[in-house]
Amino acid sequence: MIHIRSLEFNYRDGEFRLNIPEFMVERSEKVAVIGPSGSGKTTLLNLIAGIVTPVNGDVTVDEVQVSELGDSGRRDFRITNIGFVFQEFELLEYLNVLDNILHPYRITNALTLDKEARTRASTLARAMGIGDKLKRYANDLSHGEKQRAAICRSLLTRPKLILADEATGNLDPVNKSHILDLLFRSVDDHNATLLAVTHDYELLKRFDRVVDFKDFSPNNSGS
Ligand code: ADP
Ligand code: MG
Repeated sequence: MIHIRSLEFNYRDGEFRLNIPEFMVERSEKVAVIGPSGSGKTTLLNLIAGIVTPVNGDVTVDEVQVSELGDSGRRDFRITNIGFVFQEFELLEYLNVLDNILHPYRITNALTLDKEARTRASTLARAMGIGDKLKRYANDLSHGEKQRAAICRSLLTRPKLILADEATGNLDPVNKSHILDLLFRSVDDHNATLLAVTHDYELLKRFDRVVDFKDFSPNNSGS
């Protein structure tokens, strides 16, 4: 599902460098990404989603070489194929919860907002325990409720690939376990692939595989 080769990346400003000789995630695999703060975990997800592009090397997602697409091509590819749960949620504060969840359908012609999608949005919200908050503005939600709304939005398009950036950070244990169950169930139901950044070592056993950012270090011998 994901294949990265000879990737080199740096931001225009700053010292940060990311080198990944090779990284693969198979279809339907659930992979956790760990590593210290600032090591580039969010950057990796952004490269896979085509939010940023590599300086050298290539990023292929579901047979499409994302890193070769133009800006609007990458955007449409992302909205239609990838569910992204952002670290900071990226909910739009001037929209209510329902409109936030439906937002992917409103920003591309590649998706059609029909009755079925709307029904799915309410069903998802109910399953996530925010079914009674659909009319509430994103700003007036608790941290945990924002997280759930962001997860609903990422799942609405039934993406083949879900990228989750610390999707359960700062949640209390009961909520965390519940939300994770829902996320994993949805991934299983749709045979989707999950790549999730987490700091939560207790969760790692739920994944097929754990990737440690240390393994990408250019100083690392081996590969
Ligand atoms: P992590 O998610 O592992 O905490 P990030 O991928 O967010 O790490 O960031 C990796 C490094 O890149 C950090 O040093 C961060 O300060 C830097 N960085 C992140 N975004 C930008 C940006 N837009 N411009 C310049 N540097 C950035
Ligand atoms: Mg991060």
